Amino acid sequence: MPIYEFLCPRCNTLSSILVKSVTTPVTAQCAACGSHDLVRVLSRFAYHKSTQTIWEESGEPQRSPGLDYYKDPRNIGRSTEKKFKEMGLDMPESIKNEIQAAREGELPKSIKDKL
Ligand SMILES: [Zn+2]
Repeated sequence: MPIYEFLCPRCNTLSSILVKSVTTPVTAQCAACGSHDLVRVLSRFAYHKSTQTIWEESGEPQRSPGLDYYKDPRNIGRSTEKKFKEMGLDMPESIKNEIQAAREGELPKSIKDKL
């Protein structure tokens, strides 16, 4: 069964939701504040991929060999931006701000809690 991750723009909390089937409509609710207004997060951290694969799929030039994709702050949020674009959606302002903050070196609270 797939597990989807949702970000609550209201309180910035990530919720993991187990989905019985990909065809079942997902009723996601924020575990922290109960909001139903959640944004699906698509594999922001691809732990199962090698550093090299992530670089290749990103289409970004790899500036130094072996450099971890996510260690370059300019790549933070790039896959999320790409997904929103692919789906033809506007990225919510809260997520834009979160990505911007992360690029400037500040980890979002929801990620900090997981570290
Ligand atoms: Zn919430």
